[in-house]
Amino acid sequence: MSSIGDGTRAVRAGLPEPQQYEPTLPGPVFAAHFHLSGEPVGPYTYGRETNPTWTHLEKAIGELEAPGEEVVTTVFASGMAAISAVLFSQTRAGDIVVLPNDGYQALPLVREQLEAYGVEVRTAPTGGDAQLAALEGAKLLWIETPSNPGLDVCDVRKLVEAAHAGGTLVAVDNTLATPIGQRPLELGADFAVASDTKGMTGHGDILLGHVTCRDAGLAAGVRRWRKVVGAIPGPMEAWLAHRSLATLQLRIERQCSTALTLAEALTKRAEVTGLRYPGLPSDPSYPVAVRQMRRFGSVVSFELADRETAERFLEALRLVDDATSFGGLRSTAERRGRWGGDAVSEGFVRFSVGAEDPEDLLADVAQALDAATR
Ligand code: PLP
Repeated sequence: MSSIGDGTRAVRAGLPEPQQYEPTLPGPVFAAHFHLSGEPVGPYTYGRETNPTWTHLEKAIGELEAPGEEVVTTVFASGMAAISAVLFSQTRAGDIVVLPNDGYQALPLVREQLEAYGVEVRTAPTGGDAQLAALEGAKLLWIETPSNPGLDVCDVRKLVEAAHAGGTLVAVDNTLATPIGQRPLELGADFAVASDTKGMTGHGDILLGHVTCRDAGLAAGVRRWRKVVGAIPGPMEAWLAHRSLATLQLRIERQCSTALTLAEALTKRAEVTGLRYPGLPSDPSYPVAVRQMRRFGSVVSFELADRETAERFLEALRLVDDATSFGGLRSTAERRGRWGGDAVSEGFVRFSVGAEDPEDLLADVAQALDAATR
């Protein structure tokens, strides 16, 4: 059903046909193996290969990623498991892969591993479509847009067109936007990938990832990789994720709207510099974001004068946890430079906007800025 709204789709996504006396969303199936006599054919054989709880969740995510289309979704134990599944199932020694040089901070580890297997890795920044210059002869282009934590945006349609013209596959890490904010397959990508640890599940209590593709052959490679590596989600996590998807639109709508309000408020604070939010008309990402995104995400990034000011700010916040990750119902913020993996200043703050009342959150941020810069 592609004609219904995002909220309607989210509450019904992946539900089986109603059956008398059965629950709306069947509970988690805990099984290492299934009764199986004769030929060992599916749908359910062994728990590393398939599980009915994953089937419901995969159907739900597929409906959100590509409404009304036939797609294949594969769920994983984490976002990194999903990312690795695409990169390592699709490439061989001698292939060329283009990665962002400003993406999630575990990507350099992936790069090392790809290179150890004989894959050539080129990198390009996310903003400005600099990937175009690195595409020649590449097997796969990896895009993360908006990028974490810099919130740069690249033109997915334009990059896909150039990549496909040269036979290059395109994968988009859609973690920050979620399918409520952006649908990579509609923009032409071959793989929509995400850490569902973040906004997709939104409660900060599970790790999960997924890969969705249209092409059955590409999907088969990803599924085979999951079977080989065994990076499978537990049934409880898969069920909790599906339960959380029912509120996806409500959560993301609220979080994105408050994120924009917060970004607008921060433009008026002299102690805040380097403010980034793709939904802010003055942001460098805005012209491209507005063409390909439907909502602009829950993350706002900005800089304070130095490490000490940022630490005082985080300490003074009362409604915002000093914690990593993003996309959750409870606002979190962190001084990103503490990890050492991103090219950010010491005073750089990544702020993930939750579902608190906007006026409460804005008041808390204002008092924390006052306290930090007094
Ligand atoms: N992709 C992005 C953009 C991320 O921010 C993260 C985690 O922060 C990941 C992938 C990895 O996800 P996970 O922690 O679920 O393995």
